[in-house]
Amino acid sequence: MKLSMRLVVGFLSSIVISSASYSKTCDVAVDATDAMSFNTKVMATAGCTEIKLTLKHVGKLPKAAMGHNLVISAESDMKNIVTAATKAGFAKDYSPGTEHVIAATKLLGGGETETITFPTSKFKKGTKYKFFCTFPGHSAIMVGDVTL
Ligand code: ZN
Repeated sequence: MKLSMRLVVGFLSSIVISSASYSKTCDVAVDATDAMSFNTKVMATAGCTEIKLTLKHVGKLPKAAMGHNLVISAESDMKNIVTAATKAGFAKDYSPGTEHVIAATKLLGGGETETITFPTSKFKKGTKYKFFCTFPGHSAIMVGDVTL
């Protein structure tokens, strides 16, 4: 009985080791609109070692009126990042900076698209993550959950 338990444990740990070395890039596409919205409220990252994220502004309005970016951080850092981006101002594209930012696209105007790639190793299990837009006022509505 003890021997078979050991075999099971050994078998399970080999699965854990092999899944850790396995790499998978997942394509994630998010649209942002002139109606100040993302087309999704959830970004799933389970089973992915890397995310290739494409943000497309499918509207027509210029960046100054209805600019959108997509920033990912821990839920607990979101408020500070939005405040920093607002302070950075339009001249700096409401940049969220780099502190506590897991990933960020640039600010896009209508018709623009950007693709970024980032590793999911930046996520810590047990922490809640959000994706949001740092254009002033947008993160109240343009926000969603990143699931691990
Ligand atoms: Zn926005």
